[in-house]
Amino acid sequence: MSRSVLVTGGNRGIGLAIARAFADAGDKVAITYRSGEPPAGFLAVKCDITEPEQVEQAYKEIEEKHGTVEVLVANAGVTRDQLLMRMTEEDFAAVLETNLTGTFRVVKRANRGMLRARKGRVVLISSVVGLMGSAGQANYAASKAGLVGFARSLARELGSRNITVNVVAPGFVDTDMTRALNDDQRENIVKQVPLARYAQPEEIAASVRFLASDEAAYITGAVLPVDGGLGMGH
Ligand code: NDP
Repeated sequence: MSRSVLVTGGNRGIGLAIARAFADAGDKVAITYRSGEPPAGFLAVKCDITEPEQVEQAYKEIEEKHGTVEVLVANAGVTRDQLLMRMTEEDFAAVLETNLTGTFRVVKRANRGMLRARKGRVVLISSVVGLMGSAGQANYAASKAGLVGFARSLARELGSRNITVNVVAPGFVDTDMTRALNDDQRENIVKQVPLARYAQPEEIAASVRFLASDEAAYITGAVLPVDGGLGMGH
């Protein structure tokens, strides 16, 4: 059955792989983008998740064209790495505003239709560093850890309405975000990963699709690591 799926930040990286995975399975997929030409094959809605008006507008357009959002993947995220000593209020607030408050915003808006439909699937993209911590990423790790508490609260609030809320916690994935690291940093990371490589975005997408599938109907409030073993034990 073709569902109405929204992937925030679905224009590139992990989000694009997720959008493709749903589209390949026959779902109607909407993606958000902020600038430039969005990839073809999806309903692309311009939306910065830090702007409540744009979020509202995006949902209106999606509802008009694809119907109520039944599967929401909150993937959009940013980094602004800096050691605490040099991290400004702005660095901290900006990352929290996108990764945590922006996610709250898109989930809250999706929840309206899901409650009415008495079904829904929400998958939040966190990170292994939300659980392990990461020097130089206090803002990012705090935002990603925040998603876990957020998801688990919603799992409790919304479970009786047949809405599941789960978290995928990727390790290091080969995208623009990690291409920004230098060779030394990349090499050090790989040394710590039991599977000794980066993930491909498609490997994250497969887990997201699973959590949104009928087979995962009894899974909610879970944090699924897709990290090559990097975060084991957390
Ligand atoms: P990219 O930097 O490649 O892409 C980030 C995506 O988020 C882009 O689509 C971007 O849109 C979107 N985005 C950022 N800010 C906003 C905003 N304010 N409003 C709307 N969209 C926004 O990152 P990845 O694909 O690597 O990461 C995707 C998610 O996975 C993120 O949440 C990230 O934290 C998480 N993650 C990534 C890991 C990795 O190793 N790459 C590891 C663990 C988690 P635009 O094109 O307009 O900038």
